[in-house]
Amino acid sequence: MENQENLALSLRKEMIQLNLKRMRTVAWTLMYISAIITFIHFGEVFFSKEERVMVPTYIAIHTVMFYINLAVLLFVKDKRIHVSSINIRKYEYILLGYLYMTILLITGITVMDVFYFNHAALYEVFFLVICTVFAVSLRKMIWAVLITVPIILLSSFLNLGMTGESIKVMLPMSLIVPIGLIIQYRINKMQKQFIKEHILLAEEMTKSQQLSKLLAEKNSELTEQALRDSLTNLPNRRAFNNRLEQIVQQHNKPKALTFMIIDIDFFKNFNDYYGHLHGDAALIKVAGLLDEIAIKYNAFAARWGGEEFVIVSQHAQRFAEHVCEEILEEVRNLKIRHEHSPVADVVTVSIGMCHAKVLNLQHIHTCCEIADQALYTVKQNNRNHFHVKTVVFEGERCLPV
Ligand code: GH3
Ligand code: MG
Ligand code: MG
Repeated sequence: MENQENLALSLRKEMIQLNLKRMRTVAWTLMYISAIITFIHFGEVFFSKEERVMVPTYIAIHTVMFYINLAVLLFVKDKRIHVSSINIRKYEYILLGYLYMTILLITGITVMDVFYFNHAALYEVFFLVICTVFAVSLRKMIWAVLITVPIILLSSFLNLGMTGESIKVMLPMSLIVPIGLIIQYRINKMQKQFIKEHILLAEEMTKSQQLSKLLAEKNSELTEQALRDSLTNLPNRRAFNNRLEQIVQQHNKPKALTFMIIDIDFFKNFNDYYGHLHGDAALIKVAGLLDEIAIKYNAFAARWGGEEFVIVSQHAQRFAEHVCEEILEEVRNLKIRHEHSPVADVVTVSIGMCHAKVLNLQHIHTCCEIADQALYTVKQNNRNHFHVKTVVFEGERCLPV
């Protein structure tokens, strides 16, 4: 509804802007005609032997018309016309005032012509037609047309009867009303159509905006999903790589990082004995626990692949060792039964850890490999433990400490 009102207002503005421009064209022409006719009548006063009746009145009316048109041309300049919601009324009144005034003055002259000289000047009829036809697009002007036209028709009929002179006046005048009504009807129809189309367009735009929003949401949902492991809901390997890329890009000097690769012990046995579904449930539990611990220590946990996970922390080695111990203990405390594990009767994990100061992605990949080697060492020896390797990088070379 509000939309409809706004549209109606902008249409009104457009219409007034257009009519103001037309008004200046009419004013130019009428000003010249009034000036010429005033001169002719003055000539009559000075040089004609026989003075016609009403000539001073003609001169007066044309002088008034001349000044009205001059005022319009001076005060309503094309460049200055800017119709807005605030000044729309002012312009509407200027336009209506001008048209009423002009139509009434020309009507007056025409009626006078018909009464005193038994004819009407064609230019008067012509101007009335022009003024009214462009004025009918302003709704309030239709009354001026409906009043003045019958007056002229009546006066020419009363005075001239059905003569050739009166036909000259009556024919164009009688055409004004139907032409005006047709124009008015068409303008109303166009306005309604315009508003309807705009509303449809606005609705379409709202719909497409909603769709793009939905699409953007779905897109970010998909991106989010692409970075998460579907089983455990932990960040996946790609998310892990992205995160590490971010870390190395943020710093241009070596950064101390600890990589822990955590692997469930004898998980193949677990699957074989309890089935894959139970295996999945155990993986989810372990993943949830690792995520909790990582969050607690401001670290980052991801699923490395299979039954292996990775945690990256920015803590010192000693602290990371303490975190490893906590992980081992908390996994045991999950108390997931594992009767076919040679190391315990519950699910346990082994951790390979690498601590180093890294500068680039290559260092990170090397660290992951070393953490994997450390994990292999645990698996070779006893499991349910962790093993730490610390390295230093000299350029791309990696040296054990
Ligand atoms: P180790 O102590 O040496 O690590 O022995 P393991 O049996 O855990 O080692 P291995 O790598 O041989 O087996 C890993 C098993 O993990 C094999 C595979 O069936 C299981 N696994 C990997 N991904 C999933 C998964 O998403 N769900 C389930 N249920 N099992 C998985
Ligand atoms: Mg494994
Ligand atoms: Mg394993």
